[in-house]
Amino acid sequence: MTDSGRDVVRLLREALGDRVDVSDGALEAARADKSGHPAEGTPLAVVHAASVDDVQTTLRTASAMCTPVVPRGAGTGLAGGAGAGGGEIALSLRAMDRILEVSPDDLVAVVEPGILNADLNDALASYGLWWAPDPASRAISTVGGNIATGAGGLLCAKYGVVRDAVLGLDVVLADGRLMRLGHRSVKGVTGLDLTSLFIGSEGVLGVVVGATLKLRRLVPGEVHTITATFAQVRAAAAAASAVTAAGIQPSIMELMDATSLAAVHELLRLGPPAAGAQLTIQTDGPAAAQEAAGIAAVLREHGGRTEVSRDREDGEHLLAVRRSMHPAMESMGTTLIEDVSVPRSRLAEMFDEIARVEAEYGVVIPTVAHAGDGNLHPNFVFEGQDVPDRIWAAAGDLFRAALRLGGTLTGEHGIGLLKRRWLADELGEDQWQLQRQIKAVFDPLGILNPGKVFAP
Ligand SMILES: Cc1cc2nc3c(=O)[nH]c(=O)nc-3n(C[C@H](O)[C@H](O)[C@H](O)COP(=O)(O)OP(=O)(O)OC[C@H]3O[C@@H](n4cnc5c(N)ncnc54)[C@H](O)[C@@H]3O)c2cc1C
Repeated sequence: MTDSGRDVVRLLREALGDRVDVSDGALEAARADKSGHPAEGTPLAVVHAASVDDVQTTLRTASAMCTPVVPRGAGTGLAGGAGAGGGEIALSLRAMDRILEVSPDDLVAVVEPGILNADLNDALASYGLWWAPDPASRAISTVGGNIATGAGGLLCAKYGVVRDAVLGLDVVLADGRLMRLGHRSVKGVTGLDLTSLFIGSEGVLGVVVGATLKLRRLVPGEVHTITATFAQVRAAAAAASAVTAAGIQPSIMELMDATSLAAVHELLRLGPPAAGAQLTIQTDGPAAAQEAAGIAAVLREHGGRTEVSRDREDGEHLLAVRRSMHPAMESMGTTLIEDVSVPRSRLAEMFDEIARVEAEYGVVIPTVAHAGDGNLHPNFVFEGQDVPDRIWAAAGDLFRAALRLGGTLTGEHGIGLLKRRWLADELGEDQWQLQRQIKAVFDPLGILNPGKVFAP
């Protein structure tokens, strides 16, 4: 550790006591998220912030010493965004996990950033309320992390993503100033929308220390779950697009291709799958039965073999197959989990591109998709820890294909460390420069999560 590194840790220790953790275990854990791509080197310390004051103290100290700070929620990110490396301070928000207010009349909750998504929703259920963003990691990821990544989930085609569910944010800037952004009224257009700017900003603009969330009432009535199997993934993708085009709005529409189905079936010991692709679709609310019947008809017209279940618990079991994708991939080797998104009508073409890339690069790319919103997770599986050049080349080809189809590099996981080199391809040179200038306004010393999103 350098002298200045030692000085920073000493200053933080004097101010924050044992909330500054330099144990080997904590430092090692702070290097990584769930992407499998840890930061280089070991951070100076992990600060376990317990209050807004702690966050301000950390950032004032870091600014004074020009020391990088990496904000961190639960470390479940898949883009390498939360990893803190050599010479950096990891700032964990996980201990700031209180619900400060629930207002059923206003459909608003005010929370600290470290609360887990599922814990928040468990607490809200007793009010008959919920916060809609539902990443598959909801049991293990924080609301602050969900906001910083702009997370999505299975239900977002119908109920929206994080961006649709946040009214205001309290943020601490790099120099330690606390800002209250946004509003708690339904409407609000005063000044520039800095709340939206912070959503999905991956810790490079400031630290989210509080959030005013827009809630929904729990949906009453039945849940219907349709499973539809297809011989080919292209047909399943075309059928999913046809459901969207028919104007029927499922709450969940998930697609699994043959390889991902086989991997999950093996993990769950379900025997070999009988189909080349599967859609699992849910409808909810008062029109659930009618919508399920309409969707099943569209799927059959497109060659699907359908089954409909009216039992909520049964529906959860059927979705468990989809939710087991991540552990199933882990059992196959090291995985680069990708996250492209295309307009919903282009889903089948994106699967054609995946097949082309598989053939051209000699790789297998098990893919699942949130077909209701056009967000695909192609998984590149390989041996060893480092992503081989051949895999990066295949991934780069796939990203460019998504852009050609009018899509985007990342639907919900973010740019982090892993996709920095393609950022300018999507944004174009002028916007890329403008975004860097915006970052510099919020963080002139460049100490917030340096090297993430924007390449150094
Ligand atoms: C099994 C599994 C399933 C997943 N499924 C989904 C899914 O369905 N949808 C989805 O969108 N994602 C999914 N993810 C990815 C991940 O869970 C999300 O990106 C999640 O929002 C990250 O939350 P976190 O608390 O773990 O944040 P972290 O991983 O700790 O941090 C993520 C990024 O946010 C920044 N950050 C964290 N907290 C703050 C804060 N308070 N202020 C400023 N910056 C902050 C970090 O610097 C980092 O850049 C999944 C991950 C796993 C492992």
